[in-house]
Amino acid sequence: MMACKECSANPVFSLVNRSFCRKHYIEYYESKVLRTIRNYHLLGKEENIAVAISGGKDSTTTLYILNQIAKQNPKIKIFGILIDEGIAGYRDKTLKDAQKFCKKHKIKLYVYSFKKEFGKTLDELSKFGYPCSICGVFRRMLLNQKARELKATKLATGHNLDDECQSVIMNQIKVNWQRSATLGPITGIISDKKFITRIKPLYLVSDKETAAYAFLMKFPVMHTECPYIHDSFRHDVRNALNDLEEKHPGSKNGIINSFLEILPDLKRKYSGGKLNYCKYCSDPCQEDVCKSCELVKKYKLKFPYCK
Ligand code: SF4
Ligand SMILES: [Zn+2]
Ligand SMILES: [Zn+2]
Repeated sequence: MMACKECSANPVFSLVNRSFCRKHYIEYYESKVLRTIRNYHLLGKEENIAVAISGGKDSTTTLYILNQIAKQNPKIKIFGILIDEGIAGYRDKTLKDAQKFCKKHKIKLYVYSFKKEFGKTLDELSKFGYPCSICGVFRRMLLNQKARELKATKLATGHNLDDECQSVIMNQIKVNWQRSATLGPITGIISDKKFITRIKPLYLVSDKETAAYAFLMKFPVMHTECPYIHDSFRHDVRNALNDLEEKHPGSKNGIINSFLEILPDLKRKYSGGKLNYCKYCSDPCQEDVCKSCELVKKYKLKFPYCK
C-alpha cells in the first residue's frame, strides 16, 4: 500500500488509487458525507431529525455524524428510533449496541417492537411468508408513524451507495420505475404532511468505506448480518454487483451517477399520482388500504395504530 497521500504516514486504508492514514481517512469520509448533506439540501436551518437506527455500522455512523452537526447547531435536534422486529440472535444484540452508543453520546432513543405493535415477532411471522417483505412493509410504516408522533421534521436512514445501487437494479429488473422515482438522497415523490421526508446522508459512500470508518471510530457495532438476508432477492443482486465492482471498479458509482441524472425526470413523471388515505390507519397510500394494514388483515394481527 502507498503512503498516505496527505501526510506520507503509514496508511490504514486504501481506495482504488489513494491511501490514507487514520486521521486523513476520517477527514475524507466525513467531508464526503457533509458534502452530500450540503449539495442535496438534506438539512434545513431548523430540524428535529429522527434517525432510524439498527445498531449496525451504517445507521450508527449516520447518527454519529448528525449528532456532531446538532452539537454545533442548537436549532438542529436529533433522536434515534429503533424498530425491534424480533429476530432472535440478531436484533437483540444490535439493540444492545444501539443502546450503548446512544447512552454514551447522550442521544434519546425510542424503541418499538413488532411484538408489541402487531402481537408477533418477525420470527413468528416468517411462517406466513417471505420475512424481508413483511419486515420491510411493517418497519417502513412504523418508522413513519412513530417519527410523525414524535414530531420529527425528517427521518434520516443509513442507506449507502451499495443499498441504493441494489434498489435501482432491483426496480429495473422488476420494471418498477414508479418505485425508483421514490429513491434518491431525499426520498418521496408526492408530499403529504403525513409522510415524513426521508434523507440519506450516506448516499454517496460505499459499504466498504463506511465499514472502515466505523472500525476506525471504534463504534460498538457487530459485523454480522440478519439471518434472513440470504433468502432475499436483494442478497443476490448485492452479490452480482460486488462481482461486477471487483472486475470493473467504479461500476457502482457509475450506476448511481446515471440514476441521479434521470431521477428528476422520474420524480416529475410520477409526482401527479392520486393519493388516498388508508381506511384503517389513515396513512397516505395509493389504494384504499395501505400495504401494512393489508398484511395485518391477511395475517389476522393486531391493529395497534388505528385511529
Ligand atoms: S434482511 Fe430482511 S428480515 Fe432482515 S432486517 Fe433486513 S429486511 Fe428485515
Ligand atoms: Zn495522513
Ligand atoms: Zn393502513
